[in-house]
Amino acid sequence: MTVQLIDQLSDRTLLKQQAYVNGQWLDGNANTTFAVIDPATEQVIANVANLGAAETRAAIESADLAMRDWRQQAPKTRSDLLERWCQLIVDNTADLAIIMSAEQGKTLAESKGEIAYSASFIKWFAEEGKRVYGDVIPTAQTDRRGIVIKQAIGVVGAITPWNFPSAMITRKVGPALAVGCAVVLKPAAETPLSALALAELADRAGIPAGLFNVITGDDAVAIGGELTSHTLVKKITFTGSTPVGKILMAQCAQTVKRTSMELGGNAPIVIFDDADLDLVIPGVINAKFRNSGQTCISANRLIVQEGIYAEFVKRLNIAVSEFNFGAYSQSDSTHGPLITAKATANIDAKVRQAIADGATVVCGGKASVAAGYYYPATILTHLNDTMAIFKEEIFGPVAAVYSFSTEQQALDMANDTVFGLAAYVYTENMRRSWKFAEALEYGMVGINETAISAEIVPFGGVKESGQGREGSKYGLDDYLEIKYICMGAMDK
Ligand code: NAP
Repeated sequence: MTVQLIDQLSDRTLLKQQAYVNGQWLDGNANTTFAVIDPATEQVIANVANLGAAETRAAIESADLAMRDWRQQAPKTRSDLLERWCQLIVDNTADLAIIMSAEQGKTLAESKGEIAYSASFIKWFAEEGKRVYGDVIPTAQTDRRGIVIKQAIGVVGAITPWNFPSAMITRKVGPALAVGCAVVLKPAAETPLSALALAELADRAGIPAGLFNVITGDDAVAIGGELTSHTLVKKITFTGSTPVGKILMAQCAQTVKRTSMELGGNAPIVIFDDADLDLVIPGVINAKFRNSGQTCISANRLIVQEGIYAEFVKRLNIAVSEFNFGAYSQSDSTHGPLITAKATANIDAKVRQAIADGATVVCGGKASVAAGYYYPATILTHLNDTMAIFKEEIFGPVAAVYSFSTEQQALDMANDTVFGLAAYVYTENMRRSWKFAEALEYGMVGINETAISAEIVPFGGVKESGQGREGSKYGLDDYLEIKYICMGAMDK
């Protein structure tokens, strides 16, 4: 018999099914709820309050009021509260990981890793928030002084995806709160429980009411419409797909809101003949199969030089044969299911199309028929850059392997996409790695490394992968306005 999610937790009060607005736990509009499904079992694990545009509007208005005091606080006061929140997240890692795995499907080890990653953004920005420096500008006139200060931008609307249900939230909320903003968050409908658990811990940490609001709901268009049109919201920060990002940017144009967009990717891993396959294989396993391929920086195109191609495919096939797809509750699971039945059907359709276009299936290639949204590790070869799979974000455990002969050909293939989030290169040649990294049209490049993301480095893309950077010393900029103050008559 399956043990209920709540019975798996040491602290049962971390499982929340109401929304969190202005420091209060709220039921949905007319007490309606929507179901949260465990993708490993297809069972309903929670029924969460279903809020809409009216509740979103109320949350924005209370956020605006809460922010008036918060932005006046000393950065150290804000920092201390964020540190407390971070510590509570760390202290509750085991329960938070269970909640995350239950709603998202990733293994417990991956969830624990994400909780640590998630907490790291709060800790980092608790410190960075104390370093919002201004400038004094020498002016052309002796009677004037030019001063630049940086101020909290205002109420922030945040919309986040299901693939990293905690970290995608803290890397927005951390910097926003640190500089004095308030946030109204809409988490993905598939994974609201991790967001609500974060809200419970923010409440326990003493973050004042109204500063962090979680609007749960399954009508993203209504909630997003309110966030993007309300004049009190000064900035929208979004992580999700490129088509939705474009809709939100268009909506924000009406009130000229600042936007930051972390959107889709089509990451290449270019593997040269001189690469060390002992480094390459674990790197590819991480970049292609972490979270069962559902990360925005997942390797989408494995572009391998001819001389090493056959050996690479052979070794990759051996490595993936050791995977064990299963539920988080099984201790031997190395990989979890996909998020929904729709996701499984999408991946299967992409594989079927590639086969119709001439691809060879080395392993996998057929959706599981058992319960749970599983798709096996799949390797496709005999692909080329005219096929649909070359252009699309796969978002699943399917390794599409291409071949190239010259360095220029590899570069052209790598850049031949509308996306520009992450790219990876494996080579032992230092000159080539430098020049290649400079020529790649991507926001992030890993050289002989695929685990490139951390709170201390800038995360973000170019082209249709988005704009703005999260994490690092640059991650505060998106939540700050620059104000120039001219001091006149200084020689009086
Ligand atoms: P998605 O469909 O764009 O959804 C993301 C969020 O947007 C969810 O909260 C969703 O709500 C909401 N949403 C959907 N339509 C909306 C609308 N019309 N107005 C307002 N909000 C709307 O993306 P996803 O499938 O969840 O996530 C996968 C995508 O995210 C991939 O493309 C991946 O590459 C990208 N991603 C990018 C990064 C990055 O940092 N660049 C990181 C992670 C993921 P509902 O859940 O209620 O529909």
